[in-house]
Amino acid sequence: MNRCMEIQAQITDYIDGTMTPDRLEGFVGHINSCEECREELNIYYTLYLGILQLEHEEEEVKELYDLDGALAEELYHSERQIRRRHFFQGLRYVIYTTAFWCILLAALLQLRIFADMGMI
Ligand SMILES: [Zn+2]
Repeated sequence: MNRCMEIQAQITDYIDGTMTPDRLEGFVGHINSCEECREELNIYYTLYLGILQLEHEEEEVKELYDLDGALAEELYHSERQIRRRHFFQGLRYVIYTTAFWCILLAALLQLRIFADMGMI
C-alpha cells in the first residue's frame, strides 16, 4: 500500500474528525504536498458539505459555500491544532527538563551540606 492510498483511506476519518493527532499531522502534511490526494480530499469534502446542506435545508440556506475556501479553512484549523500540540509538547519538555535539573541541583546541594558537616 503506497502512501497516497494510505492517505486517501483516511479521508473519511479526517472529515469525521475522528483522526488521532499523530495521524492528523501525517495526513495534513501529505495533503499539502500531494496534488492528487488534495484533489481526492476536495471531492469528498464537497460531497460532505453537500450532504450537510441537504440535512439543514430548512435552516437559512447558506449561500452556496465557497467550497475550496471551506476546505482550505478546514486544513488551516488542522494545522493550527498540530502547531498547538507541538507547542505543548515543547512546553512539557521544558518543564520536565527544568524539573530534572532542579532535583539534581537540590541533591548536589544536599551532598555539599553533608560534606560540610563532615558526614561524608
Ligand atoms: Zn498522495
